[in-house]
Amino acid sequence: MAQRLVRRLCDQCKVPAQISEEQIRQLEIRTPGGMYDASAGCEHCGFTGYRGRLAIYELCMITPEMTDLIVSRASARDLAAQAVAQGFEPMQRYGIRKVEDGETLLDEVLAATG
Ligand SMILES: [Zn+2]
Repeated sequence: MAQRLVRRLCDQCKVPAQISEEQIRQLEIRTPGGMYDASAGCEHCGFTGYRGRLAIYELCMITPEMTDLIVSRASARDLAAQAVAQGFEPMQRYGIRKVEDGETLLDEVLAATG
């Protein structure tokens, strides 16, 4: 399992995002209206704009199906297809969900997963 830490936005002072159409398209961001791209800073966060950290994960479960593929020396493409079929979510996609939820910044996720 892979994991990265990103800074969590302060709830009290975050401001709505100005994310480019290009990034929304490229990264398949689903709810640009809910995103934030900065915090103004306030007394809750010591005027930093951030409060704590947030972990983003990448989970890949080794199921019996996966083991069969590995043992039979399946191609990377077949392994990736099986992973997606099992609900595997790449770390960047997980991070972008957190961005969509307004918990962290797109730049944070891109820096951590790029
Ligand atoms: Zn704040």
